[in-house]
Amino acid sequence: MAPMKLKKLVRETRRLCQPYCITDGSGFRLKHIDPADTGPLKSEDKARAKETLQMGVETLAKLQDILYAQDSWAVLLIFQAMDAAGKDGAIKHVMSGINPQGCQVASFKAPSAEELDHDFLWRCQKSLPERGRIGIFNRSYYEEVLVVRVHPEFLEKQKLPRPLVSKKIWDQRYEDICAFERYLTRNGVAIRKFFLHISHAEQKRRFLERLDTPEKNWKFSAADIAERQHWREYMAAYQDMIRATATPWAPWYVVPADHKWFTRAVVAGAVIDALASLGLEYPEVDEVKRAELAAARRALHASKEPPVR
Ligand code: ATP
Ligand code: MG
Repeated sequence: MAPMKLKKLVRETRRLCQPYCITDGSGFRLKHIDPADTGPLKSEDKARAKETLQMGVETLAKLQDILYAQDSWAVLLIFQAMDAAGKDGAIKHVMSGINPQGCQVASFKAPSAEELDHDFLWRCQKSLPERGRIGIFNRSYYEEVLVVRVHPEFLEKQKLPRPLVSKKIWDQRYEDICAFERYLTRNGVAIRKFFLHISHAEQKRRFLERLDTPEKNWKFSAADIAERQHWREYMAAYQDMIRATATPWAPWYVVPADHKWFTRAVVAGAVIDALASLGLEYPEVDEVKRAELAAARRALHASKEPPVR
């Protein structure tokens, strides 16, 4: 893509996703973001948004190629959401054009016995992306202040020394998470966090669709219905979490998730914006390397196919 066209695309995508980007959580209220919002786009624009997404996917692939070649920055994308909000679909679509060698997805479910024997960041730390790579966390250490907060019995299982478990534990976890993200940022890991914000009504519609469509039955889990009973507690936990952990270097995008096409456009836009802001460049070829390339070219031209024995 021509540099001018790229600049324009970056400008446009930035404009699309900026309203949902939280860099300072003080005063943040979840109710200020409508899950059904489609920004400046109307449902008639759906086809155009899909086209733009396709262009965005190509741009992402190009930027990722430079990220990989430069081998200096790493990018960490964190996805959190209630069930059926479309995490999997957003990840699949947005990353569809990317070279699989430069991208890795880690999903975090309920912790194993081995994981419970360690501090809560341990399992995530092991899955951090290397330099030059994009790492995606499908759920993350943020579950530690979401599901674990909503279900205190999970905290019981964590085998923490008693004196360390007090009412302050959630604030302490926010503080530790912020410090960890600051540390990663200072080591060249660019972090963007996405909360796909679906409405209670749309989740019901999607669950019913899973029940009514044979090909979607496998996605249905009775546990999801049980979690739905805790909706208010989850929303309170999400709001608190965003307030405490949105920073300029690791912002939260609270992405309206009732319309999948819009969710995907915003996520793609935010990832393009993140990569574009790193000032990525292909590594420079110095004199020594240039001479090496010239010698290789001469050797290739001079080479002949060996006779078959
Ligand atoms: P999908 O349902 O789309 O396949 P998912 O991410 O919901 O994907 P599940 O296997 O359904 O995957 O659920 C994983 C569950 O693990 C979630 O309910 C999540 O809250 C839970 N979980 C993740 N981390 C922790 C944790 N640290 N402690 C307790 N439960 C956790
Ligand atoms: Mg699930």
